[in-house]
Amino acid sequence: MTSSPKTGPNVAVDPDGATRTIPERVARRVWVVAGGRCTFCNRYLLSEEHTGQPVAVGQLAHIVGWTTKDGSPRGSDPLPLDDRNLEDNLILMCHDQHRVIDNRSLWDTYDTQTLRTFKHAHERRIKQLTGLTEEDRSTVLRVVAHVHGTATALSTSNVARTLLADGRFPDYALAGIDEFEVDLRRIPGEDTPGQGYWTSALAHLRDSVDRLTAHVAREKIHHVSLFSLARVPLLVALGTMLDDTVPTEIYPKRRGQDEGWGWTNGAPTVDFTHRAVDAPTGAANVQVLFCVSGTVDPARMPTAPAPAARYEIRPVSAAPGPELIASRGSLDAFASAWRTLLAELEHTHPGLESIDVFAAVPLSAAVAIGRVPMRAIHPRLRVFDRDTTSGTYQFALEVGR
Ligand SMILES: [Zn+2]
Repeated sequence: MTSSPKTGPNVAVDPDGATRTIPERVARRVWVVAGGRCTFCNRYLLSEEHTGQPVAVGQLAHIVGWTTKDGSPRGSDPLPLDDRNLEDNLILMCHDQHRVIDNRSLWDTYDTQTLRTFKHAHERRIKQLTGLTEEDRSTVLRVVAHVHGTATALSTSNVARTLLADGRFPDYALAGIDEFEVDLRRIPGEDTPGQGYWTSALAHLRDSVDRLTAHVAREKIHHVSLFSLARVPLLVALGTMLDDTVPTEIYPKRRGQDEGWGWTNGAPTVDFTHRAVDAPTGAANVQVLFCVSGTVDPARMPTAPAPAARYEIRPVSAAPGPELIASRGSLDAFASAWRTLLAELEHTHPGLESIDVFAAVPLSAAVAIGRVPMRAIHPRLRVFDRDTTSGTYQFALEVGR
């Protein structure tokens, strides 16, 4: 064991304070692969967190202790002594947790296999995160309401996790963390929305999207990640407001155990198709029923004032269900079926001014319903809202592109 130096980024410390100098080249590699952060708690170790002084507070810890002596943590492992000061056997840690893993009563808890697993997971994560470039940043637009869950399901860490799983990271630098958050929870009447609610909520949405669009126009934004939780008519409206010039990912809310956000790995692509349910000649009114998370019951729809043509979009070879759109491919297939129906309506109902929309769809599909129609080409959408308790549909708002 060496007596000097006692501290420094290339010094390993044992439980009784004895130090050993690790070759500079090895120490540098351990610090770099760990990103200068504690393998256990991720604390930044190149400066002291309370004073902010640029003093390295990390320690190199041995997975297998550097001697075979009785007090050497995990030192009885067969790893040759010559290999114990190599990169593979060293992990970067803060002082506190270094003490924990070297505490004799915890050697079994923090055995060599456990510590290697921690080391590799930490180093893999650091490599992935530091591999992200400016091109991978995405501006986050969040729309928060009470429906379908609580706001905690949309925390910033949840958003970051979802983006990272997609090889992106959230860019909040542009305008402050809440700049592109539309919080609809303060608007009264969400449970039994009347025209006052829809007007207010629409104005809030429009305001945020306008600010976002202004930044897009100045080329400050090149990718948008949308996380939205609101009643279906507002999500359709949001879809009509989104700018087509910048790639936009509409993230779904997952159902089931974790209740997180994002696409489900390995989820199949579900195809969608449309059919005419009822197409009387001379129909002045067109209704489209989107049956994705469930079916739309015509008995719960208001009576149309004129002879109505009714179309339906539904999955090709599956029954409607809440977990149907779990992959990007399924959302694209849904949008494509809607686009095809719109094109068909241009021929069968030339000059059509508006379409009545009745949707039993997940959040992501609701946004897609608004996003597909093209400005100045397609009819406007009159969107109906489903009353949560009675299940009946009531007119909510009219939007167009
Ligand atoms: Zn730590």
